[in-house]
Amino acid sequence: MQQFPIFDEVTPITPTARMSAAVHGGRAKCLQRLIRLDFPVPATVALSFDAIRGIARGRMPDIAAILAAFEPGRLLSVRPSSQDPDWGGPGAVLNIGMSDAAHARLSRTIGAAAASRLYLRFVQTYAVHVARLDPETFEPDAGAPPEAALAALLSAWEAETDEPFPQDPGVQLAEVLRSMARAWEGTTARLLRQAKGAPADAGLGLVVQEMAMGVGPDESGSGVIQFVDGASGQPQVTGRYLSQSQGRDALSEARAIYLTRDERGPSLEDICPAIFDELHRLGRIGRRRLREEMQIEFTVEAERLRILDAVRVQRSSRAAVRIAVDLAEDGVIDRADAICRVDPNEISELLHRQVDAGAHRDLLVRGIAASPGAAAGRLCFTAAEAQACAARGEEAILVRRETTPEDIRGMNVARAVVTLRGGVTSHAAVIGRGLGLPCVVGASDLAIDRRAGVIVAPDGRRIAEGEIVTVDGTRGEVLAGEAATVEAALHDSVRTLLGWADGFRDIGIRANADTPRDAQTARNFAAEGIGLCRTEHMFFEGDRIGLMREMIFAEEPDDRRAVLDRLLPLQRADFAALFDIMAGQPVTIRLFDPPLHEFLPADKQGLRELAETLSLPVPEVSARVEALSEYNPMLGMRGVRLGVTVPEIYEMQARAIFEATAETARHGDPVVPEIMIPLVSAMREVELVKARIDAVAASTRAMTGVDFDYRLGVMVETPRACLRAGDIAEHAAFLSFGTNDLTQMTYGLSRDDAGRFMSAYVREGVYEEDPFHLLDTEGVGELIRMGAERGRARSPGVTLSICGEHGGSRRAIAFSRELGFDYVSCSPFRVPVARLAAAQLAI
Ligand code: PEP
Ligand code: MG
Repeated sequence: MQQFPIFDEVTPITPTARMSAAVHGGRAKCLQRLIRLDFPVPATVALSFDAIRGIARGRMPDIAAILAAFEPGRLLSVRPSSQDPDWGGPGAVLNIGMSDAAHARLSRTIGAAAASRLYLRFVQTYAVHVARLDPETFEPDAGAPPEAALAALLSAWEAETDEPFPQDPGVQLAEVLRSMARAWEGTTARLLRQAKGAPADAGLGLVVQEMAMGVGPDESGSGVIQFVDGASGQPQVTGRYLSQSQGRDALSEARAIYLTRDERGPSLEDICPAIFDELHRLGRIGRRRLREEMQIEFTVEAERLRILDAVRVQRSSRAAVRIAVDLAEDGVIDRADAICRVDPNEISELLHRQVDAGAHRDLLVRGIAASPGAAAGRLCFTAAEAQACAARGEEAILVRRETTPEDIRGMNVARAVVTLRGGVTSHAAVIGRGLGLPCVVGASDLAIDRRAGVIVAPDGRRIAEGEIVTVDGTRGEVLAGEAATVEAALHDSVRTLLGWADGFRDIGIRANADTPRDAQTARNFAAEGIGLCRTEHMFFEGDRIGLMREMIFAEEPDDRRAVLDRLLPLQRADFAALFDIMAGQPVTIRLFDPPLHEFLPADKQGLRELAETLSLPVPEVSARVEALSEYNPMLGMRGVRLGVTVPEIYEMQARAIFEATAETARHGDPVVPEIMIPLVSAMREVELVKARIDAVAASTRAMTGVDFDYRLGVMVETPRACLRAGDIAEHAAFLSFGTNDLTQMTYGLSRDDAGRFMSAYVREGVYEEDPFHLLDTEGVGELIRMGAERGRARSPGVTLSICGEHGGSRRAIAFSRELGFDYVSCSPFRVPVARLAAAQLAI
């Protein structure tokens, strides 16, 4: 092979060598840092990404020049150095340079058996990983003495290759480098690292290092040490040490000992106290200077400590937060750095119970991960069954084709919800997130056989009602049986980190909260108010649905008013509870939005019950229900259209809000309620509703004798409202963009049906992602931008926000910041994630 001297691609690591993680990889750069800190690192040479690319294409660097960097006769190791350690790389190769001559030489210093073990290990690795020979042929005979096992492997080599085992260290090194470079280019390795987020052209560097001998006279061995617990992040010396060993053997061998002196048996601290103290000292320096918790790989060579490597400690989400906060509290990093080191999704994991990472997963079906967390329980097919199950003190998992508002009572008691239809903004998904309930939607490969009382998984397995399943809403999977879970833990360091994040954040974070329970969660997570209270959810509580149905069936406005008068005190109490919990923070109440038809029974049994309650014949009730049904209810009689045509409902809600305001003003923090009108598409709608609400406000002030203010706003969720936002803003104190309906209407894509083809659309690259999940900043975003600009031009002080399901996502927060919005509003459990993401964007 032709050889070119490309010295700049081969760099002996010295304190002053020109090196960078982007050229030589993270491991090489880290080793240079250790060398600069005077850690006892054996001589090391770094090969850059370009060098390795060249080797893969047959351009070998000057091997003699590499070897010249090391003391003659020393064994060498080669390890990968990719830009991000998470992207992996080929396994390390140790003991390069082992040959008959080296074996004879080492037999004199460390004994024949130890020398044979080193040689044996090298021949095995070289045969399997470098020459790619059959691993079984090169499996050493565990029962044979080392010398005999070695002889057997060397003759196996000759038999397989018709050549003696290579004796020249230069040849060995070149072959090792070539096999590692080629392995990195292989399809499997490429796919694996791309799955971990590596770019297609990610580079591999390699480090060649002089071996420290963990085998030999006096105390010799190898081990790893770290100073925090990877699961909790708490300070704790963790690791193992194994006498007469190499590499990371100590981590896999049962004979390895612990590091600290305690009741578990002999320790490194006992047998080598000076080495243990030195590791401690170096650990402290490493933490401070590398500004990170590192796991240190070390070798003891005849009682001398050598540091081979240091890598970032592997950590759980919980530990990631604790480590970042501890580093900042110790002044090692600053607060901004700590905030940026935690992935906001890790916070989300901590707020919900999760399937244990090590648990056995018996997958039944995959769907869309609509609300994170995990729960196990008995399979229930209806809300009533879920309620009965909960009443027996058992955990219920509600599985429905799709949920409707009627299912809310079942969802309230269920531990998790699964639907076969629907996407991330379907009813089940929205309510699931609001309640913090694990939820998988759009599990369309699952079939429900109600008659047989079973669900049928895609592999044909049938799980009967009452059997146990586990729902993993974080991954969007339903598992058979009960998988082990780990509890949620919002420990002190999360609170501390989020507190710091609030100091950097420059956009408000509110919560979408419909009930006092949601509001309390929002408050616990330090939301700065409620950005969206969907009041219709209140009408499914207790027996209110009966009153709602009576109201819907009322013939005349006066009859309707009479029923609404009975709903009034209930709504007033709802709002008073929200105001109390939110203690003076803004509360945005959206007036009634859904089509009335959603409150009516869908099955015969329900119709019969309704006929009984209303004292009407069943056919009459059926006819009325029929008459109220619409071909396209989401574009029909809902939102402000109800407000304009059946004004009594909004008037009752406004009165309830104002009376609650007056009541709270008497005993608590003063409240300025924010009333929001849904589904507006024309300015005149706002004028009409506003005039009525103003009148209700005036009459409530007169009746209660309490003076109060209120703010009237508009939910901008139709394309026309975006286009006409200028007119609309003249009558509105705030505009809140409802990105769920706005996405639905901009794309002409049904929120409830898009799940059926969404995966095909994403797979084919038609959409980058489900636009109900990831805000489409181009199309929908253009309308929002236009709405914001037009609204502001006519009413410069207008408050702007996003309150659709996208609100808590990093992308929507970044977009809202760019447009100078005042706040985003998201489900209560998303609030901590949004606080962190917003701070990261501001830093
Ligand atoms: C929206 O449309 O974005 C919204 C928040 O309202 P809903 O999801 O209740 O329609
Ligand atoms: Mg909407």
